[in-house]
Amino acid sequence: MVIHFNAKRCIGCQFCVQVCPRGCFVFDTDNNKAELAEPILCLKCRACELNCEGNALRIDKPIFQDFFAQLI
Ligand code: SF4
Ligand code: SF4
Repeated sequence: MVIHFNAKRCIGCQFCVQVCPRGCFVFDTDNNKAELAEPILCLKCRACELNCEGNALRIDKPIFQDFFAQLI
């Protein structure tokens, strides 16, 4: 799984819905929380993680980033 979403921490700010370029999130108005609807579309851009007001999202680092980090 690329996206780690902790729904308990979600405060319903909807920034993830607004910033995701691939439409991975939808918003559940009944529960006032985001839902991860299409995780397979994720580009690992990290826009949702960086804008999440509830610190509810974590995106796995791209594989190449781990690879290059080992070289430095
Ligand atoms: S990392 Fe980017 S593409 Fe993936 S869910 Fe977050 S905003 Fe969307
Ligand atoms: S950005 Fe974070 S806190 Fe805001 S709706 Fe999305 S998951 Fe919830």
